[in-house]
Amino acid sequence: MHRRRFLQSAGLGLPSLALLTACRADDIDAATASEPSGRTGVIVIGAGISGLAAARHLADQGESVLVLEARDRIGGRIWTSDAWDGAPVDLGASWIHGTDKNPITALAEKAKARMVETDLESTTEYLTDGSEAEGAQAQALERWRDETADALTAYQNSQDRDAAMRGVVERTLGWSGLTAADKAMVNNAFNDYEHEYSGSVRQMSALYFDSDTKINGPDVLFPDGYGQITDLLAAGLSIRTGHVVKHVDWDSDGVTVATDKGTFRAGQVVVTLPLGVLQSGAVTFGPGLPAAKRAAISKLGMGLLNKCYLRFPRKFWPDTDWLNYVPAWDKYGQWAQWINVTRVNGQPVLLGFNAADFGRTIESWGDAEIVDSAMETLRTIFGRDIPAPTGFQISRWASDPYARGAYSFNKLGSTPVMRDQLAAGVGDRVFFAGEATHRKSFATVHGAYLSGIRAAEEITG
Ligand SMILES: Cc1cc2nc3c(=O)[nH]c(=O)nc-3n(C[C@H](O)[C@H](O)[C@H](O)COP(=O)(O)OP(=O)(O)OC[C@H]3O[C@@H](n4cnc5c(N)ncnc54)[C@H](O)[C@@H]3O)c2cc1C
Repeated sequence: MHRRRFLQSAGLGLPSLALLTACRADDIDAATASEPSGRTGVIVIGAGISGLAAARHLADQGESVLVLEARDRIGGRIWTSDAWDGAPVDLGASWIHGTDKNPITALAEKAKARMVETDLESTTEYLTDGSEAEGAQAQALERWRDETADALTAYQNSQDRDAAMRGVVERTLGWSGLTAADKAMVNNAFNDYEHEYSGSVRQMSALYFDSDTKINGPDVLFPDGYGQITDLLAAGLSIRTGHVVKHVDWDSDGVTVATDKGTFRAGQVVVTLPLGVLQSGAVTFGPGLPAAKRAAISKLGMGLLNKCYLRFPRKFWPDTDWLNYVPAWDKYGQWAQWINVTRVNGQPVLLGFNAADFGRTIESWGDAEIVDSAMETLRTIFGRDIPAPTGFQISRWASDPYARGAYSFNKLGSTPVMRDQLAAGVGDRVFFAGEATHRKSFATVHGAYLSGIRAAEEITG
């Protein structure tokens, strides 16, 4: 996920400073937590950043905590791959979005993690034929971005009835009268939103898609991987990986959590299952969840962003942080955004992103087909003589049974209050956290982290 250029200057503060005081990195120590026994203590489902934040906070308050995690690793949608010697790469989250007073910045400093700033102003843009966008063409790209944003702002300022983003902009810009080149540029502007918010513009709510709040400060990447943050939080916690939760039950005595490796009991449970997993029904809830929560689960959207790292024998691209490509208008969203990883770790590596519909389409392709498709775009830009990649790493977040998507978005038919309904505890026994439960910072690591602290505080009072 990354932020569109015009949001860089939005300059908005963090929503809840009160929460920040509760999650200073200093509060974290590596004390070994005791496990729940019988009807006391807390089970946390999921060892992503929200589950680890909740467990860490509870353990620091003296609660006995057990984290149950389906995968054979911790981190969830934070996933640093060590497949390439000396060049760790993140297949899930990459950036701290806005470092100012961001709780993840404090954790990164505590972990002594190296950070590298990236800047959206540092972008080389390429037109459909692969030529660099300059002069009038560069201005046209900028103008269509502005007109798209203006059409959405005007709609939000004048309408109460929601509609899908794409239709709103198409109607305002007179889509059917545009040339193919203009359509390609408008599509490029649409696709920017999909990379940021992960939903398709055919599905995202025009009224609420951007109901989140940005944090000030630069965006930074971790040359040594985001996993340093989850490793720091996990130190000393009782975590059982390889435990797939199937069913959660509760009564006035406590909670029962059934997994594929046995049943666990405790006083309370914090559920941090991704929205996509909740939507799938893979985990069932005993007495049933309240109607408002079920509605929130079904109406909020789970979107998609996929990554494809390509490693080359040598670097053949410019030094800017970003490379943006404008695909032909009928090749919507295909290989439009690239990060120059050389800037981050010195290696000849490019990272291509695909969001929403095209991100989903390629999940069913084999690796070779995905790499060929990526190379077609790179050859259009840099010529037929560029070297073939010597390695690749590809994510498929929608097919991942423990994520079922990348992060949540505000879908047409949902409203922001649904995130509060998703977050609400049930019967003083079952508590909910995870990125999708954060009304103002959904889809981010810091939002997920803060939601975990919030759920832990609901338990400790
Ligand atoms: C490709 C991609 C890029 C992103 N880029 C950024 C970025 O640059 N910056 C940013 O701030 N955010 C980014 N995000 C979003 C960020 O990664 C998430 O918001 C955040 O990591 C979610 O944390 P979480 O704890 O809510 O969920 P998760 O990390 O998904 O944790 C939930 C855990 O529950 C586990 N689980 C699932 N089902 C079961 C089950 N049945 N039993 C037991 N355990 C189960 C999962 O394995 C997982 O470990 C990105 C996400 C993706 C996928």
